[in-house]
Amino acid sequence: MPSVQLNTDVALGVAIPSRAARGRIARLGSVVDSILAAHAYPPVIERLLAEALTLTALLGALLKETQGQLTLQAQTEGGAIDLMVCDYLGGELRGYVRHDKDKVAELPPEPTLEQLFGKGYLAITFDQPIASERYQGIVPLEGKNLGEAAQSYFAQSEQIPSLVRLAAEKRDGHWHAGGLLLQHLPEGEEGRERLHTRLDHPDWPHIAILGGSVKAEELTDPNLALDDLIWRLFHDEDEVRTLAAIALKRGCRCDPVYVRSVIARFPADEREEMVGDDGLIRVDCAFCSSTFAIEPKELSN
Ligand SMILES: [Zn+2]
Repeated sequence: MPSVQLNTDVALGVAIPSRAARGRIARLGSVVDSILAAHAYPPVIERLLAEALTLTALLGALLKETQGQLTLQAQTEGGAIDLMVCDYLGGELRGYVRHDKDKVAELPPEPTLEQLFGKGYLAITFDQPIASERYQGIVPLEGKNLGEAAQSYFAQSEQIPSLVRLAAEKRDGHWHAGGLLLQHLPEGEEGRERLHTRLDHPDWPHIAILGGSVKAEELTDPNLALDDLIWRLFHDEDEVRTLAAIALKRGCRCDPVYVRSVIARFPADEREEMVGDDGLIRVDCAFCSSTFAIEPKELSN
């Protein structure tokens, strides 16, 4: 079986059975560069999206179904950003940030979530079509960073003690991002339904301390393979297992046929208002910045 390289653009599952802990670790490099290349975001927004994509990869890697989709959406009020959306499907990532340029220009280099999003909420949606499971949880965008907001998501929406660390850094013109997610699941990764979660279980603080010791530069270092980093953090444990690695890619699912069908559903007078000076209706994909040009007369029937 061809093995997936474990340095960059990859997510790896981790299990520490004797401590009833599971985790995901992910690192992104050229995937982030190529997603950001479709936009011209200021550095503070680039860093935020790099971290958000890393979080999306960590959460997406929790999906049991290969056709499952994970969506991360920040809805905001009164911040520098008014919308951030990232999603994951089968290892493919995409994302964009809609923001107010003037407000972003006034932000400090390391803004708080409140400065970025104002009164914001983070919605996380797990969609597993085969099991027809759809689950959405929403938490306030509070805390120092996205990692903290994700931790409160798990604590509040799922009652699962969790640790989330995210880091992103631009070096020599390229982004390097990495993240670690650890969770305490006393009933294990698969199988029996979880009856209750003991928040005071002594194994959890131990794992949270070891996992929490990870440094930002370890998460982002493309020369440090993810399994080596896991070993560095947890080598004293009785057993540390890694699960199948998932190669991560940039992927957009915008589709000219779909775009046309959406526009065709608008009433004729509204479609007329969309026509540009060149006689075409142009629709941009917010995720990848592709433009679809549509002949209005193709739509009228
Ligand atoms: Zn697109």
